[in-house]
Amino acid sequence: MSTAPAITPAPLQVLSEVFGYGAFRGPQAEIVGHVVGGGSALVLMPTGGGKSLCYQIPALCRPGTGVVVSPLIALMDDQVAALRQAGVRAAALHSAQGPEQAQAAWRALRAGELDLVYLSPERLLAGDCLERLAELPIALFAIDEAHCVSQWGHDFRPEYLQLAVLADRFPTIPRLALTATADGRTREDIRERLRLTDDRVFLASFDRPNITYLVREKEGPGAQLQAFLAPRKGEAGIVYARSRQRVDRLAQELAAAGFDALAYHAGLDHQRRSAVLERFRRDSGVIVVATIAFGMGIDKPDVRFVAHVDLPKSLEAYYQETGRGGRDGLAAVAWMVHGPGDVPQLRRFIEDSGAEPSQKAIEHGKLDALIGFTEASTCRRQVLLGHFGESLEQPCGNCDVCLEPDRCQDVTEAARKALSAVYRTGSRFGAAHLVDVLVGANSEKIRVLGHQELSVYGIGKELDRGQWRSLFRQLVATGLLISDPAHQGGLRFGDREQVSPLLRGDATLELRLPLPKRERRQGSEAGASRRFGSASADGNGAGDADPQLLQALKDWRREQARSQGVPPYVVFHDRTLMELASRRPPDLASLAGVTGVGKAKLASYGEAVLALLATGAA
Ligand code: ADP
Ligand code: ZN
Repeated sequence: MSTAPAITPAPLQVLSEVFGYGAFRGPQAEIVGHVVGGGSALVLMPTGGGKSLCYQIPALCRPGTGVVVSPLIALMDDQVAALRQAGVRAAALHSAQGPEQAQAAWRALRAGELDLVYLSPERLLAGDCLERLAELPIALFAIDEAHCVSQWGHDFRPEYLQLAVLADRFPTIPRLALTATADGRTREDIRERLRLTDDRVFLASFDRPNITYLVREKEGPGAQLQAFLAPRKGEAGIVYARSRQRVDRLAQELAAAGFDALAYHAGLDHQRRSAVLERFRRDSGVIVVATIAFGMGIDKPDVRFVAHVDLPKSLEAYYQETGRGGRDGLAAVAWMVHGPGDVPQLRRFIEDSGAEPSQKAIEHGKLDALIGFTEASTCRRQVLLGHFGESLEQPCGNCDVCLEPDRCQDVTEAARKALSAVYRTGSRFGAAHLVDVLVGANSEKIRVLGHQELSVYGIGKELDRGQWRSLFRQLVATGLLISDPAHQGGLRFGDREQVSPLLRGDATLELRLPLPKRERRQGSEAGASRRFGSASADGNGAGDADPQLLQALKDWRREQARSQGVPPYVVFHDRTLMELASRRPPDLASLAGVTGVGKAKLASYGEAVLALLATGAA
């Protein structure tokens, strides 16, 4: 955009001419209006909700340069590349660039030739950067990933605290803090620490309707993962595992099974990590198996699944990590397996972290919330949104609980057998032995203890071991049983007022058990993807795209991206390609009406796309 300062274009015009979008989404219009008018604010919006436009458009509408503080260099470079494609004059200033690039950016900045400049907080606060900025016309300050200022948030960065100086040094310039983390405490922290307490808060719904949540009990995570991935070959995704060894092993297993899978963790050297990141960003079908070291700052829009083979450390982290799927609004799946082994390990991590006791207590509480989520027998989305203080009236219809209602079953009889087994064996054994007793196993421990003589021996053949173990876990979760840490996790009766009616037959119990082992291998993963795999959140009528034409467009895009050294989605998003392949605009005028096609892209790519559509349509 080469707008002279005197002419201030209207936000809607910028939205359509620069970004190629027809309408604002959710609270975007209100936020943009507020900031264009000179207001500061805190914006809470989920990943993929469209935070960037909330400051990019005001930066283009207000005189001066918009200054964006972002903690991640990879993200910065991508955003700058995407903006340049759209004809916006943008640059970044960060530590990974050479002095010439930095000098060129400063020169452009001083000459008033930049609409937006992206800076890391370190850069902004170092040397005389603030003094130099103070001499220039500044349109606004945008503080991205603003939760980094809060210790309560999950990604505290001490240097963010110093961003409070912006309020003192630039009292008349709008400041916009943005985050995808919404819990109340983090929110208040951000407002206080960035001096936004008197300013507006814009809170978008945190629901990500295009994400399907599937939570499974852990059986054999490697095999379960492969069953989940089998119908998804060629799709881009992230698999999170806790340890480096596990990441390496899973990546190898997947590669051996024919998936384009790469490992990523902090134990790999810098060069290797960048190479993996590059492949993930530039190709559309790469799976990255990673520790949590991977992900912050990935704004690849076409991630189709996020899988967790180990529990994340909190529900916030889960939400953030799964939120990396489906930023483009098309369907994505968040799949997670969890097992009883995850929890003690995570507790130990917290204990060994060296944090203050108060911080440890916070972390334990967060882990509890996550465990509650995995054990919920109500809609996952309701639990997840509830955690962020949002209530969803109806079950979502797009999570495992909603999609597989048949899996909630009357387990009264089985629960009574389980409780009897606890009682008859003296209320001192863990689930493993109790399951052996119930299924009538011939173990040495049983023979030594003489438990084959008990009335409960072998009375539980209707469930398999995995189902029994799950039942015991859930009996603990519901308080019917207590796991006694003083006795190596031996189980005894919990709340008598719950236990007695159940044993007497005056109460019933409904829980979800895993599928029997026989049926488990095929899993219901393929089914869930068939039913929901092509659902699009905004329903843009791209469903009838000709697959061959779509492939031709993707090939063309890859070539364009490669020759310019940018990620493919920076050229056009999947959504745009799908719309092109289904609507097949015959001329430039109708091409301009396609989502994501602004003036600059129409000028650079219009003719080539039309030519491709003409041959592809023949
Ligand atoms: P966030 O930073 O909140 O995660 P982004 O700003 O990256 O989200 O936006 C997510 C995606 O949604 C991007 O592909 C963006 O181009 C698209 N988007 C944002 N706002 C709109 C809109 N009003 N209309 C259509 N697409 C939009
Ligand atoms: Zn649901």
